[in-house]
Order: sequence, then structure tokens, then C-alpha cells
Amino acid sequence: MVERPASVVKELLENAVDAGAERIEVATAGGGMALIRVTDDGGGIGRDDLRLAVERHCTSKLAGGLNAIETLGFRGEALASISAVARVSVASRLRQSDNGWRIGVEGGRATAIAPAAVNVGTQVDVKDLFFATPARLKFMKSERAEATAISEIVRQAAMAHPSIRFAISGSDRSMLNIPSAGPDGLLTRVEQIFGRDFRENALAIDAERDGVRLSGYASLPTFNRGNTARQYFFVNGRPVRDKQLFGALRAAYADFLARDRHAVAALFLQVPPALVDVNVHPAKAEVRFRDAGLVRGLVIGGIREALAVEGHRSSSTGAISMQAAFSQRQPPPESRWTAPLGFNDAEQSPLGDIGVSADIRPDSLSNATPETVKALPLGVARAQVHENYIITQTGDGMIVVDQHAAHERLVYERLKQAMAAKSVESQLLLVPDVVELSEDDVGRLLARLPELNALGLVVERFGHSAVAVRAVPALLVEADIKGLVNDIVDELADLEATTALSVRIDKIAGTIACHGSVRSGRRLRPEEMDALLRQMEATPHSGQCIHGRPTYIELKLSDLERLFGRK
Ligand code: ADP
Ligand code: MG
Repeated sequence: MVERPASVVKELLENAVDAGAERIEVATAGGGMALIRVTDDGGGIGRDDLRLAVERHCTSKLAGGLNAIETLGFRGEALASISAVARVSVASRLRQSDNGWRIGVEGGRATAIAPAAVNVGTQVDVKDLFFATPARLKFMKSERAEATAISEIVRQAAMAHPSIRFAISGSDRSMLNIPSAGPDGLLTRVEQIFGRDFRENALAIDAERDGVRLSGYASLPTFNRGNTARQYFFVNGRPVRDKQLFGALRAAYADFLARDRHAVAALFLQVPPALVDVNVHPAKAEVRFRDAGLVRGLVIGGIREALAVEGHRSSSTGAISMQAAFSQRQPPPESRWTAPLGFNDAEQSPLGDIGVSADIRPDSLSNATPETVKALPLGVARAQVHENYIITQTGDGMIVVDQHAAHERLVYERLKQAMAAKSVESQLLLVPDVVELSEDDVGRLLARLPELNALGLVVERFGHSAVAVRAVPALLVEADIKGLVNDIVDELADLEATTALSVRIDKIAGTIACHGSVRSGRRLRPEEMDALLRQMEATPHSGQCIHGRPTYIELKLSDLERLFGRK
């Protein structure tokens, strides 16, 4: 049970939460190996209960029966197990009491109980962890790694309990303070932990199926990261790191994110206790649901629904980094940046300058009234620059659209709709297009004929090392067919074996969409630009391309004013 310092911290935090604490402080030294001290201002433990608290199988928390466990701990083992492998002291004072008491335990033996001058609440000191079990000590990772794992445990607890103030201190780190976010302050708490820009990039999630409820926040696809470190799941208030849940989250974003990018999320499942077993894994990181399919469906469905509603919203981060790029020349009056707590992955790079030159057509909006402009979320096209970026004017700002990325999403959604309706239009080629490939690749392609047909692509063998393309999706008649076939083959090689059929089809559809979209470098007429914008507004998920990059960025008038120092 006591695997490493972080597991000790987890147990002590749970106890403090169970005791009704409003402030919890964690201090560590030597990666928690030398010292872990957790101080809370909860209800405390009375003199007569101190000894019981550190004895095995003594818990004060079984009143409701095993199936109705409300509190986090219920086995009465944590303090006893920790005391068996470290020098422990518990000092506590009841809320209504004038003085406190302390008990020490070492190697499982309790010392006499003595008076202690402590505040209301409980302070547990765990020193020299594993001093009695050197074999265990050898397996510990570096102090730094242990200290990091402890911070992660504190972040999890903080996420689960927004109204509690958490602080971490000690020689392992500089002081970290997470003030109370108030009882309804989940979004504030999530922002405290994920960083300031999360709020503007967050989708509120709230869905229910058959008595199981999913709530919390997940990021817009354009707000993504290179690993899953910022994906938090809680089941009935307990943090879990469960493969099925991560898998469901990944599936929910499969259409929007490249394989090596990950959404940011804090998601809470409320599951009737009878439908979930939280004790499968000794550290309680994994859970077993009675109906795993239901939970998976809920996670995928709940997130997709939110994504569909917010479909054409795109990450604000692009615009923010653009501002940052501008402001390198002219520092803003005050810094608006705060670093997220303790994460250190690289931030997204600024977009760089947008050189506004050529192509400006100041009169293209001449017949749009201010009302028209206001009613259009993506505004009215004003100009195309560098033959790929459409500049639009909106009711309260401006937008820059990446025409290729946007069109790719539109084609993809259209293709998927047509596939669902089994009505993908296929166009017969007058002269079949022969594409040379390796023998392996020919085999790979031929093994997927039904999927390719469903997408409107008709291919047949042409000797050992080539295929003949007889028909293509109607969207693609002008596309570079050799390039398309080669990309599909690469995609298939990447996805081989491991991936589900539906994911493969989606990926191929994505490749087709990419080939079917207007290239950057094509000049668009004003009507074409406006048509693209209107289609984007009407298309789900149009805020991001199929690789999770934004299709447009927005600058509010207020942002512009700030950039020019007018505000
Ligand atoms: P469990 O939490 O499973 O009951 P523990 O060994 O973690 O078992 O704790 C044993 C008992 O000690 C708890 O049931 C509780 O009564 C008491 N206790 C432990 N930590 C605290 C605390 N921080 N504040 C108040 N009571 C505590
Ligand atoms: Mg406990």
C-alpha cells in the first residue's frame, strides 16, 4: 500500500479532506523520503482516539455500510501501514478543545500520548520513510521525481476540492499556494492548475446517461498538449488514472487531434456506488465499472456534444500569442501572464508577424451594413493576403482565417456526412490513373478496398507493384491522385493492426479532405471568401482543422486597442 512518498501524501490528504479541512498544507523534504508533513484545520482527533487512529483496521468511517462510502478512506489502514515503515507522529486538537495531544509511532509501536501545543486540526509528520526497509529504499526514484509525484497528487486533490485551500512548501520546492476557489469554483480551480488561458479555451461538459453523470471541463481541440499530463479524471470524487477513461477521451477527440496531441481536461464522473468498484488497484488509480460501455459512451458522447455546440469556436491562444509577438516590440503596460502551477512543457510558439501587404481591397464590404456584420460570427471578408489568409471584419474585432485549414475541415465533415448516408459521390476517371507503389503498399491498399470504396475511391491491382485508380471521390476530381494514394498508404502503414476500423476510415477521410481542399496559394474572389465563411459557420467543428490546429484566430477590437496602447 505504501509504495512511495506520493502514496503517503495521497492518504494523508484524503484524511484531511474527510476531516472537513478548509486549508491543507503539505511540506516535504528529500522528495518526501526525509519528511512529509500534512497539516489541516479539520475536526481533529480526540485524546482517546489518537491511539486507535494509528492502529490497523481502526476507522471512524464505516457508519454507512460498505456500499455507501461517502468518505475517501474506509479501510482504517493508512496510518497503521505508514507507521510500519516510517517514524510517524500525529498531533491533533479537537475543534471544541483548548489543548491538543500528540502520539508517536515507530516500527509499529506507539509511544505514550503527550500534550501538544497545536492549532485546531491535525498535523501528521512522516519522517525517514522506509528507514526500516532498505530494500524498498533502493527502488525509489530520484528525490526530484518523488517531489514531482507529490505535487501531482496535491494537484489532483486540489482539482477534486475547489473550496479547500492547498499549499505546498518545504525544501523540495518553493512555496506553492492554491487559494480557495469557493464552493462553486471548479472553473477557477481548474484555471489555477492548468493556467490562465485555459478558461477561454474550455468547454463546459455536462451529460448524463442511465444515472451516471459526467461534468467538468475539456479544452477546445486547438488547445492541446504533447502529453496526457493535464488530463484528470475523478470517479465519485476520487482521482483515477484509468486506461479506459483516457481511451474514451482520446476517442472523443479523434476527429480533431493528431495522434501525438492531447486535449486538456478535468472530468468528474458521478456513478452510483453499486455500479463501480474502486478497489481494483491497490493505489486506487484504476476502477472497474459494471457497465464500461456506458461510461465510455457517456464520455465520448458528452464531449462530442459540447464540441458540436462550440464547433466553430477556435482556440484563443493563437490570438494571444500573436499579441505576445506584437508586444515584443512594445511591451504591454502590465504583464497578463501567469505560469500554470508546476507544469513545464513548452508553450506554443508565437505565430510570428502577419505581413499585411498586397491584395488589400478596402471596398469589398461596401454593401454590408453594420447589422449584417454583427450577425455573422465570422464576419465579412475584407481581403485575402499571401493567397491563404482571409481577413474579415466582425462586429467587435477582426478574424484571420487560414483558408486551406478551414476548407479541409469543411470537406472532411461533408465527406463524413455523405459516408454516414452511404452516398459518397464517386467520379469515374476517363483514363485510370496508375500509381507505382511498393509490393507491401499494394497489399496494404488492396486489403482495405471496402473502406476505400465507401469513400468513393475505386482502386484495383495493376501488376505487382502498382494500382490503377478507376474512380475518385467527386470532391477530388482536380486533386493530385498520386499524392493522395501515397498519403493513404502512409496513413494505413501507421495505423496498421492497432487501430479500430472506424478510426482508420476517419483518418483516410481526413487524408482525402486534405487533398480536396483549396490549397493555400489560390486567390479567392470576394464571393468565394464569404461563401467559405458562411459554410464554416454552418459546419460543426469548423474552428479547427483535422489536425487540431485552429482554422482562424480572432482579435477583438479591445485587443487591438491594447496592442496600440490606446487602452
Ligand atoms: P481511514 O481513513 O481509512 O479511516 P486511516 O488509517 O487513514 O484510516 O485513519 C484512521 C482514522 O484516523 C480515521 O478513521 C480518522 O478517524 C482518524 N484520522 C486520520 N487522519 C485524520 C485527520 N487528518 N483528521 C481527523 N481524523 C483523522
Ligand atoms: Mg484514510
